[in-house]
Amino acid sequence: MTIQFLGAAKTVTGSCYYVKVGDIQFLVDCGMFQGSDELDRMNHDSFPFDPAQIDYVFLTHAHLDHCGRLPLLVKQGFHGKIICTQPTRDLTKIVLLDAANLQKEEENRWIAKAKKTGIAVAEENKALYTEDDVDDLMKYFEVYPYGNSVNLTKECEFRMRDAGHILGSSIMEFWLTNEAGRLRKLVFSGDLGQPGARIVSDPDMVREADYVICESTYGNRNHKDRNETALELLAALKDAQQEGGNVIIPSFAIERTQELLYEINLFVENGLLESMPVYLDSPMANKATEIFKQYPTFYDDDARRLLKNGDDPFEFKNLHNVDTVEESKRLVEKHGIVIIAGAGMCNGGRVVHHLANNISDPRTHIIIVGYQVEGTLGRKIVDGERFVTINGQEYENKAKLYTLGGFSGHSDKRDLMYWLRGFGHTPQMIFLVHGDQQIMSDFADLITKEIQPNVYMPDYREEVTLR
Ligand SMILES: [Zn+2]
Repeated sequence: MTIQFLGAAKTVTGSCYYVKVGDIQFLVDCGMFQGSDELDRMNHDSFPFDPAQIDYVFLTHAHLDHCGRLPLLVKQGFHGKIICTQPTRDLTKIVLLDAANLQKEEENRWIAKAKKTGIAVAEENKALYTEDDVDDLMKYFEVYPYGNSVNLTKECEFRMRDAGHILGSSIMEFWLTNEAGRLRKLVFSGDLGQPGARIVSDPDMVREADYVICESTYGNRNHKDRNETALELLAALKDAQQEGGNVIIPSFAIERTQELLYEINLFVENGLLESMPVYLDSPMANKATEIFKQYPTFYDDDARRLLKNGDDPFEFKNLHNVDTVEESKRLVEKHGIVIIAGAGMCNGGRVVHHLANNISDPRTHIIIVGYQVEGTLGRKIVDGERFVTINGQEYENKAKLYTLGGFSGHSDKRDLMYWLRGFGHTPQMIFLVHGDQQIMSDFADLITKEIQPNVYMPDYREEVTLR
């Protein structure tokens, strides 16, 4: 039995793990690399396996860095099953359609350039897949609920547990019989959510495993308290309201946006905030919100209670959905408004022109609610760079910055340690993935000291035999 680490190895994107056991081969996730030109290029690398031979893909959740290369698999001959929860399947579809669209736009830009220069478009600048490829992919999905153990083959049984990260996100448990006839249990954490987060439940604890493949995004720091963060958001909104400036919240379309709406809904409904125009300027976030509304059984108790009492957590007075690009551009005429727009790391999407329009105005409030990968515009803003380049033009950054770590969709150091302690002393090895190198080694040191000595940080494409 072997596992090969084909992504999220000493980096935070491109999650993909390739497992061979007995007669079967499967992947856990097949995500896209993001954050720099070099990482973008890696999406064009060929797979070190034959996609036609892959029997299953277990998809932990719908974020692009976990599902973004699935259509490529199908284009290259995959005809197995993609296993996940219902919300993951539906959210994955909108995430991939959006990705296909962005790739097409990018390719068109290169084609236009090529026409001028006469130099052909390089392979790495072509779209990886189209909307049709995404539609084609959807027929391979097979959905399961949390908590049911399923015997797929004589050597593979699996169960999905709630990872509490985004709606439908899963921890994957596997019971695999290796070539020597021994049963081995593998647990993939997927991305683990933050206990106490809105809408989703807390991550399920898993009690035993021989091998744990654990994310480590925030392995060396703790988030601010959740309630304190909500109060900071309230204070930032009130401050902006007083100054008449705009609030720009770069937000991930899935989960973070819905959590923000949920939070603002509570402020308005409880009379803590005077109604303020909120523009949700992300067609993808709007679609995601519709999917959230379809699956209330995946909510935590608080969100279900709210809904039962007749308060739709995603609706409040003065919330406007922005559809077209023209409508989005017209927001430049408005003041004293909140704009929630993607992309979450400001490396594309409509938030880019809102930042260009607002960043040099000292009344502007930029609220960062998620992790910003090295190299992105979002990271430059968080790092306080005084001058930033947006769409090829330099702007002086005079906006007020709020970094609200407490809204993170990920477990922090404390939460991850708590989750890992749940295994007791059973794992032979904890593999750390999905983290920047320094953060990961700090986290590895902590685990070695406090839980158990066998911690390993695999390299990209490294293959490990599991005995
Ligand atoms: Zn994620």
